[in-house]
Amino acid sequence: MSLVKQVGMLFAKKWIGGVTVQDVVSQAKRSNDSGEKVIINYLGEDYFDKSRIKQSVATYSRLLSQMKNEGIAGDIAVKPTQLGLSIGYELFLSNYMKVVELAGKSHMFVWMDMEDHMFVDDSIRAYLTALKSHRNVGICIQSKLMRSLWDIKRIVKSGGKIRLVKGAYPARKGISYFDKAEVDRNYIKCMEYLFKNSEEFMLATHDDRMIEMALKLRKKSKAVVLFGMLRGIRGSLARKLALDGERMYIYIPFGPEWLEYSVRRLKEMEHSTLIIRSIISD
Ligand SMILES: Cc1cc2nc3c(=O)[nH]c(=O)nc-3n(C[C@H](O)[C@H](O)[C@H](O)COP(=O)(O)OP(=O)(O)OC[C@H]3O[C@@H](n4cnc5c(N)ncnc54)[C@H](O)[C@@H]3O)c2cc1C
Repeated sequence: MSLVKQVGMLFAKKWIGGVTVQDVVSQAKRSNDSGEKVIINYLGEDYFDKSRIKQSVATYSRLLSQMKNEGIAGDIAVKPTQLGLSIGYELFLSNYMKVVELAGKSHMFVWMDMEDHMFVDDSIRAYLTALKSHRNVGICIQSKLMRSLWDIKRIVKSGGKIRLVKGAYPARKGISYFDKAEVDRNYIKCMEYLFKNSEEFMLATHDDRMIEMALKLRKKSKAVVLFGMLRGIRGSLARKLALDGERMYIYIPFGPEWLEYSVRRLKEMEHSTLIIRSIISD
């Protein structure tokens, strides 16, 4: 590893679980020791190279066996375009089903991450297809998109499990909310729907306001609420929630593409404050 990369890794380690399957499984154990479950994602997206796609499937397979062997409490998360969606739907579906089946054999759960708006339809289509035969699957939905409550309704009606986020991809005119207040308002609307209509879902946010509101809404609901946060962001709040008995999940990305991930996160305007604050605080 070059010197620049080594220095970069010192910073990135806060958000990344390492480079290899063994690295991330060790980090996952530490989260488990603090009472937190994990969601492990192998970094990589927008692949057009079939060998990289194949390699991602193989890595998830190794990850699942290692998690099982070492008794890791947690799930995995895949990105549609790392499994082939940039090339075509059928390739993606077949790779996604392979991962879901492998996970199912080990009684493990697979979250589908949500990427840029143009992948949303096919991601949900593949998710609903998998859901017909597998219960170990969940999907991320972004409140930044205007369509999201509609998507949540049809997924919940099909018995699916939602992980609600605000959304990390750039907003697009006519389909996204640009104003943070609107994204938050839609998050609340979606969260209220989930509390009334879903048996179990995840709220993946570091936002105190959303978390406080969720804790209040839960008092009037029978729903099981899971909380999710990214590794390295608001770690002390995550540990506090876990100590309070909340079902807390830490999302841990890993893999050789950690530098690209870290640089991209830093470049994202909306996230730069979040990331910079995360460097200086816990
Ligand atoms: C588990 C998980 C999975 C995700 N999966 C996806 C995905 O599949 N697709 C996708 O598009 N996005 C995903 N995201 C990212 C998500 O969309 C948001 O970009 C990101 O979580 C920031 O949004 P937020 O809800 O935390 O709220 P924001 O409004 O961005 O910020 C949170 C608020 O919390 C407080 N805060 C945040 N950090 C700190 C800190 N360090 N110290 C003190 N206060 C702080 C501040 O008050 C801030 O305003 C995921 C996020 C998580 C946690």
